[in-house]
Amino acid sequence: MATTTLSKIETIREDFPELKRQFHGKPVVFLDSGASSLKPLPVIRALTDFYSYHYANVHRGIYQLSEEATDLYEGARTRTAKFIGAPSERGLIFTRGTTESLNLLAYSLGDTLGPGDEVVGTIMEHHSNQVPWQLLGKRRRTVLKHVGVTDEGVLEMGDYDKLVTDRTKIVTVTHVSNVLGTINPIKEISKIAHDHGAVCIVDGAQSTPHMPVDVKALGCDFFAFSGHKMCGPTGIGGLWGREELLEKMEPFLGGGDMIREVHLQESQWNELPYKFEAGTPNIAGAIGLGAAVDYLNHVGMEWVARHDEELIAYGMKRLHEQKGVRLLGPTDPKKHAGMLSFWLDYAHPHDIAQLMDSEAVCVRAGHHCAMPVNERFGVPATTRASVYLYNTEADLDAMVRAIDKVRRLFVR
Ligand code: PMP
Repeated sequence: MATTTLSKIETIREDFPELKRQFHGKPVVFLDSGASSLKPLPVIRALTDFYSYHYANVHRGIYQLSEEATDLYEGARTRTAKFIGAPSERGLIFTRGTTESLNLLAYSLGDTLGPGDEVVGTIMEHHSNQVPWQLLGKRRRTVLKHVGVTDEGVLEMGDYDKLVTDRTKIVTVTHVSNVLGTINPIKEISKIAHDHGAVCIVDGAQSTPHMPVDVKALGCDFFAFSGHKMCGPTGIGGLWGREELLEKMEPFLGGGDMIREVHLQESQWNELPYKFEAGTPNIAGAIGLGAAVDYLNHVGMEWVARHDEELIAYGMKRLHEQKGVRLLGPTDPKKHAGMLSFWLDYAHPHDIAQLMDSEAVCVRAGHHCAMPVNERFGVPATTRASVYLYNTEADLDAMVRAIDKVRRLFVR
């Protein structure tokens, strides 16, 4: 990281080479970290360094290079486990990301369920925490139920009392909504699940990048997250699970590394976490994720959370000053993390995003892979600006200037 007399945010921005790019003669304003974050130099260097000097397959070779690669890979696991407050690295499985982690659960845990067993989700879930449970229903004839969302964009907590019963085996919920920005009360939801003998699964895709996470304090049983949203590479993420539950589950994928012994008709599984890591893993990805975790620890997750909250408060204020803006999600920035999804009365989100692009402002338009929650708010799509550690108030000002341009073009 640069060591000059720059302010903290300027120092951070220096670490992200993509922020130096210009489009249409204007500096890039990146407000799409909710989809995927930019990458800092230490992460890029960790990947180049690994591929240049330490590359070999892991867990197999008895030679020095393979031992180095294994140490780097397992070191990344230890640091990533610590980053989310996991009691040990045995419960942290490297996956391709949140989607794979949730599908792993829907198979390995889901297949222990039978007809009539119930899964309780919410209507604010990303499709990756919706569709795997629908597929489970087709395989095992389980029943999927959904907790609703209030007009303010928070969970209808009273629905849990009605929906979670002794038939409920799984309660699954996102920590932070990728459309509304709502931060959900995981501790409370975990307790409701446990009171009924169910397990609680948390989709941490949008919380892990933005706030300190401690799975022990959250009280959940499983926690899924993606590396690419938290400064790490694509194709890597994690699933943390309570070891006693992971021990009881069957593997998700079969192949190399996940076995202890293979015979022609049956096999015995490797110990945790390898039982769930079939095949050659994404070694470089995991090492890059480890570097991302180091980077975020260096910046400080408390700082990231505070910075986020200040930007969200500022963005809300600026958006409320505009005419014809409908902002979704909680109005209290303390209950609202990372993103601002809005609807403009006079233009479709795709037109808005395209016009913003001509101002070098990168935002996302669409249903953000969460169609049911868009339906709930009666909008086919929204424009979503998402902030991260490298954004500034000036970025949000640039977005508001672009909205002004949209209005001048569409409102006559
Ligand atoms: N859940 C949430 C809340 C998300 O925002 C996302 C990514 N948009 C996912 C799950 C899926 O993550 P990935 O595509 O990295 O698997």
